[in-house]
Amino acid sequence: LFYDTKNYDRESFEACLQNFSDITIEYTKSDLDPRTAALAEGFDAVCAFVSSDVSTQTLEILHEKGIRLLLMRCAGFNNVDLDTAGKYDIRVMRVPGYSPEAVAEHAMALALASNRRLYKSYNKVRENDFSLSGLMGFNFYRKTAGIIGTGKIGAAMCHICRGFGMKVIAYDVYENQALKEFVEYVSLDQLLSDSDVISLHCPLMDSTYHIINIDTIRKMKDGVILVNTSRGALVKTDDLIEGIRMHKFAGVGLDVYEEETNNVFEDRSDEILEHSTTARLLSFPNVMITSHQGFFTREALEAIATTTLQNAVDFLAG
Ligand code: NAD
Repeated sequence: LFYDTKNYDRESFEACLQNFSDITIEYTKSDLDPRTAALAEGFDAVCAFVSSDVSTQTLEILHEKGIRLLLMRCAGFNNVDLDTAGKYDIRVMRVPGYSPEAVAEHAMALALASNRRLYKSYNKVRENDFSLSGLMGFNFYRKTAGIIGTGKIGAAMCHICRGFGMKVIAYDVYENQALKEFVEYVSLDQLLSDSDVISLHCPLMDSTYHIINIDTIRKMKDGVILVNTSRGALVKTDDLIEGIRMHKFAGVGLDVYEEETNNVFEDRSDEILEHSTTARLLSFPNVMITSHQGFFTREALEAIATTTLQNAVDFLAG
């Protein structure tokens, strides 16, 4: 059963299914959570996404309904209670590295767009204002990019930054030997103080939760650009807002944010908007927010569909 929330990847799965004659898919428009888990009755596997709520309660229901395979069609799995899945012998399979370049390219797009105020420029031009006020950015060439987390996506980002002629420094708990030729590993503090552009590419874990907070923000250069395409909770939003108010950032580009799952804009009542940190972030002209779309390229969707269906075949083959 395919929990199909946004109806964006059905086509790629349908196209890919032609190569997997043993598999049939049924789709439901709901996301997987404790209210919808019972729909899985009678299926061999469920397929869920990064927006799904695969908590203890959901897994208990899936277990009751006889589900033994959870296919996550995404890389991150911080929304899955792995301990409970293990307890019920529900195998969790994901797509670890479908297209690191897709996310890294989006991270660079956010960095460039916020540096050169593209969204502001676009809106001005649409209003027939071709003046340059408020649009000045800085060259990336010969500036320093600080990459936090140099796994698959972080490594791709390092290569892109190098292509821009940037000096690339990085912080990771494990050093990626393949990058040693042009990436200098430094402490987190040094990365924060030396970087002109900081991009987050580590997973969300206890050790990385709110890794960007008022203390780490204070250590950054004034006029830095901060990009987060990893997970919203790497950044403590209230502190980010404080940092923006302190004029710490030339630009902030976020593809992910703490409130993501709450559909804050579905109900645009004044009350919701007043209490929504995402809405507060959008009120700043140098903040650019996109809709968790880093992965959203044709190539990535094809790779996600192929790997997810192959995971199902591998599971059935034992
Ligand atoms: P990866 O596992 O290949 O790399 C993660 C890196 O982070 C590893 O090198 C790891 O050592 C490092 N790391 C772990 N703990 C750290 C810490 N405390 N400090 C610094 N580094 C640490 O993962 P990936 O494929 O590169 O993906 C990175 C993240 O990107 C995923 O966890 C996911 O949250 C996010 N993601 C976002 C999108 C999107 O559409 N925006 C798509 C895919 C993945």
